[in-house]
Amino acid sequence: MSFYYLDHNATAPALPEVISAVTNCLQNNFGNPSSSHAQGRKARALIEEIREDLAHWLGGKSHEFVFTSGGTEADQLAIRGFLAGQNSPHKHIVTTAIEHPAVLRTCEQLEKEGYKFTYVKPDSNGLVTVEAIEKVLHSDTVLVSVMAANNEVGSIQSIQDISAMLKKRNITFHCDAVQALGRVESLSVQSADLMSFSAHKINGPKGLGILYIRKGIPFVSQILGGPQERDLRGGTENVSAIAGLGAAIQWWRAHGSEERKRLTLLRDTLQKQLQEAIPDMQVNAEVISRLPNTLHVTFSGCRADMLVIALDMRGLCVSAGSACASGSVKASHVLLAMGHNAEAAVSSIRYSLGFGNTLEEIPIVVEITRQAVKAMRENV
Ligand code: PLP
Repeated sequence: MSFYYLDHNATAPALPEVISAVTNCLQNNFGNPSSSHAQGRKARALIEEIREDLAHWLGGKSHEFVFTSGGTEADQLAIRGFLAGQNSPHKHIVTTAIEHPAVLRTCEQLEKEGYKFTYVKPDSNGLVTVEAIEKVLHSDTVLVSVMAANNEVGSIQSIQDISAMLKKRNITFHCDAVQALGRVESLSVQSADLMSFSAHKINGPKGLGILYIRKGIPFVSQILGGPQERDLRGGTENVSAIAGLGAAIQWWRAHGSEERKRLTLLRDTLQKQLQEAIPDMQVNAEVISRLPNTLHVTFSGCRADMLVIALDMRGLCVSAGSACASGSVKASHVLLAMGHNAEAAVSSIRYSLGFGNTLEEIPIVVEITRQAVKAMRENV
């Protein structure tokens, strides 16, 4: 059975160029970048070259980028590394109610360690305003963490405006830009003091993240070991994954602009055709700027976890906009924070498009969804 993969926000399949770069590196560039002999120097040269590519793409200086084991580690390292490095008695941190669990669960743990948190709610479209953040800042606030784009509904935050406001108040800003990389045109590390990324969301290898740490930001390594990554993150670098990231960066720098337009067309076509084919469908975060590849919809009367299984059985891979655990569906914290009721928060799914999807696939995806939703509604 052929399948249709519309789950690129979960992970984007590796590009052929990425697979070649990883394989080539494993075969021909196997040295440990910390070794001083020729094989070590060759591996070191490769990772420094890709650090340069990051700086050319996203701004900043190459030495401000640190490789990690993924976006999750980059988020935690950003928050914990900064808190450990700053020499201040202040303990108030502001974040949003719609962050990824990599941030929210770190915050939960830090609360137990004595930090105080304010979780700013978005509006009904998943947008967190500068004013909403500014309102909750006080003299004890040391850090603000706001994601650039939401992984579920795709809402894009005004991180440049948030950053400008925080700069005036001299408050450090961390931004989880994992979903924004490649998908948001003007993304730049100039908008934050700490910024997290993940290679597998841009068709690179899994298990590789990047943390941008602006020079001068207090920071203490949280992973102790060798002096790798300028002593900011111990552990031998994942050289072959970094080689793959290099190929993904090259692809996005060359084709990103065109790809974002293509994805917007696919997403808008999918939305229109679904609206025509299926009654009682609500599009979430529709009226604001959202990721070009993301469509988040609520099908009333359909439990998202069951619908995802029904779609999977018909060859369509999408995600429930909520975490499923032991057969029960947990309401999406993002939709609840946006003010949706519990029923909507368990009846929503996310289509996320990417490389490999075509316009020809859209009517098939719509028909699969129509059949699955109809069958589910008739069986209620
Ligand atoms: N932050 C956001 C917004 C994400 O969407 C994800 C992954 O889905 C992460 C962080 C974690 O990234 P990784 O899967 O590389 O650990």
